[in-house]
Amino acid sequence: MEHEKSFKDIGVCDLLVEACENLGWKTPTQIQAQAIPSALEGKDIIGVAQTGTGKTGAFALPIIQALLDADRPRPFFACVIAPTRELAIQIGEVFSALGAGIGLKTAVLVGGVDMNQQQFALARRPHIIVGTPGRLLDHLTNTKGFSFCSLKHLVLDEADRLLDMDFEKSIDDILKVIPHERRTYLFSATMTKKVKKLQRACIRNHVKIEISSVSSTVESLMQQYLLIPAKQKACALVYLLMKMPEYTSMVFTRTCAETEILALMLRFLGFRAMHFNGNMTQVKRLGALNKFKAGDCNILVCTNAAGRGLDISSVDLVIVYDVPAEQEDYIHWVGRTARAGKSGLAIALVTEYSIGNYYRIEQETGKQLPTYPVEKEEMLLLYERVSVARRIADKKYKESGGKKSKEYDDLEETKYLPKKSSKKLKKIKRPRPY
Ligand code: AMP
Repeated sequence: MEHEKSFKDIGVCDLLVEACENLGWKTPTQIQAQAIPSALEGKDIIGVAQTGTGKTGAFALPIIQALLDADRPRPFFACVIAPTRELAIQIGEVFSALGAGIGLKTAVLVGGVDMNQQQFALARRPHIIVGTPGRLLDHLTNTKGFSFCSLKHLVLDEADRLLDMDFEKSIDDILKVIPHERRTYLFSATMTKKVKKLQRACIRNHVKIEISSVSSTVESLMQQYLLIPAKQKACALVYLLMKMPEYTSMVFTRTCAETEILALMLRFLGFRAMHFNGNMTQVKRLGALNKFKAGDCNILVCTNAAGRGLDISSVDLVIVYDVPAEQEDYIHWVGRTARAGKSGLAIALVTEYSIGNYYRIEQETGKQLPTYPVEKEEMLLLYERVSVARRIADKKYKESGGKKSKEYDDLEETKYLPKKSSKKLKKIKRPRPY
């Protein structure tokens, strides 16, 4: 029987094997096992991989190993470009964790954070730069002493998203100031036309690694849907969260306003919920994410801003509150759970308004999902209480002029809580995905 390859077997040096062990990475994931040997041979990589497959390690390990093999210390050795601030910060954290024992210096350059602070970080001449395109370009143009003239590795992460977000021009400008003699790693969940064009522009002698077909989701993810009238959607949400109180859950909605109203409603009902959306300041977004990661709240109500790349390994349940028009968004939302081999559950709330979107997703993924076994009468017991909480949340949101007032920042809204129903819901056991 073929034995599972270890990090050492695929060419990772002892220092980094130890760093992986410290992170609890015992054996390489599929993408790591395929990408690392080619990257160590000096090839460019195109990685088409699902979310949560260990992509970051697949490019971080060969980069750090090349740095360890370099004849002298090399500032500005590698640059990773990511589409969102949170993803860039997360990638920076993986580099810092893997390089903790070897004095690796990493700087994260993202918008919404003081430029001066980042200039100080650049003055320390870090080995690794991780950033979002706009802020990176800003520093390349305005920060003295910072240039990519000695850059050896470029990573374009979530390339499809980078291009969807209209970063094409910034990326072109960054490519112009990066040496041609370099290694390039391009990772993307989907190979769109724009990604292929970018690939032609910046990648040469490459190896293409495709971990799964486009539009798929990991096997340990159990997906279900719940068909309900639109006016019962909030009630269904509360029902599901009450059924799985010990779960760490993400709830995806279409609009920023809805994230705030739903989080507020859930807090009125005694849940530990916070919202996360693109309208929040960077500090508030990070604050909400950190509270969620630390377990201070166990429900994050978010927009697509949290849909990609974010790695919160403990997410057990994703509720797709608004079924998105784009199948890709659905894939990324449900991909927030069942990461790195863990199991997870995703439930889509389908109504008379979103059923068209839902059928399209079924057709495009070629998967017919089972329905979530709801006990309708039990769910409707909550209807009155949830409707009251929703009305209060709507009113509070409108009173604040759509902006968050201070009052919304804490978890004290439980004081508005309508009296609890005396009937308790039966908890369900954690379902066992496949
Ligand atoms: P990524 O796709 O890079 O966001 O990684 C998803 C999750 O997988 C993160 O929580 C990583 O810490 C974890 N991970 C990455 N590589 C491994 C590995 N070889 N073994 C176990 N977990 C891993």
